[in-house]
Amino acid sequence: MLNLYDYTLDKLTLLMDEYHQKPFRARQLFSWIYQKEMTDFDLMSDISKEFREILKRDFTIIKPKIVVDELSKDGTRKLLLEYPDGAKIETALMPYNYGDAICISSQVGCNMGCSFCASGLLKKERNLTSGEMVAQVITMNELLKKEERHVSHVVVMGTGEPFDNYENVMDFIRIINSPFALAIGARHISVSTCGIPNKIRRYALEGLQTNLAISLHAPNDIIRQQIMKIARAYPLSELMDAIKYYEKTTNRRVTYEYIMIKGVNDSLKCAEELVKLVQGSLGFVNLIPYNKIKEMPYERSDEKTIHVFYEYLLKHHVRPTVRKEFGKDINASCGQLRAKEIHKNEEEF
Ligand code: SAH
Repeated sequence: MLNLYDYTLDKLTLLMDEYHQKPFRARQLFSWIYQKEMTDFDLMSDISKEFREILKRDFTIIKPKIVVDELSKDGTRKLLLEYPDGAKIETALMPYNYGDAICISSQVGCNMGCSFCASGLLKKERNLTSGEMVAQVITMNELLKKEERHVSHVVVMGTGEPFDNYENVMDFIRIINSPFALAIGARHISVSTCGIPNKIRRYALEGLQTNLAISLHAPNDIIRQQIMKIARAYPLSELMDAIKYYEKTTNRRVTYEYIMIKGVNDSLKCAEELVKLVQGSLGFVNLIPYNKIKEMPYERSDEKTIHVFYEYLLKHHVRPTVRKEFGKDINASCGQLRAKEIHKNEEEF
């Protein structure tokens, strides 16, 4: 069975051709499943009965089951979803004043092995298909509909490394961005990567107006290699070259994510090195207070240290932002809820 949510409009149009259907059939199906939110082929009234039978025979529309639905005091909503094969993933919704942003997972578990991140506690089981990523947005939209809200922004920042699942993530973006599907504007879509240079170059050539965030987290190779396994494969010089290529090709600014971890990457010397590192780039630096994970030895930097770091960047013309925190009371950091649930089950059985 083929999952209809997995198809971009272009791919579905090609597939319809194989069924000797006119190209507009794909647009019709998109309209049914995304705009009219209809998953019952029998009710797709402008499609012939004969072809509806074929659709029923060959196609399915996979929606995950909601296992946990947690609502934080600040409005953050975190879902633990389960796909038919038993794979469990997390999706979070963050209400901003400019709209509702969803943070989706791109893989089941993660192999990047960043030493501070809860997602890496559980190794990658498999990639998510584009349709499984689309279904995260649809599931959230179904919940929001009751309050007359809908997902307006998407960040691929949940569990998984999107550039380790490159094709599916690109198809996902094309589907949610399509005016015939969810019509989420490209500038409202962001992908966050731990920094895989050849994929950053490839992303630069996709012709998308989407955003790119880089998990930098350290101003030099020594610290970065201590906390991020990927840095052992690609030194910062290679990463920064790829980012420069991206900026030159797309004319778009990246966001550098920098988690503030006490005693690890938060000294004034680190701030100095960071300024030098990003000086040639147009990117923004986003300082993220580290979210403590029980199983890990790291602590968040003191507020004063974050402030000094922030002021140093500001004084040296790197315009930093400090990330707003969400869902502190509901394990909203990526991977935390999933790890807790899976460990709970392990204890139970
Ligand atoms: N693999 C991608 C996307 C998933 S991680 C990436 O590395 O960018 C999303 C972001 O959350 C990354 O910047 C990651 O470093 C950060 N992150 C992970 N654990 C965190 C924690 N405990 N506190 C704050 N940020 C964290």
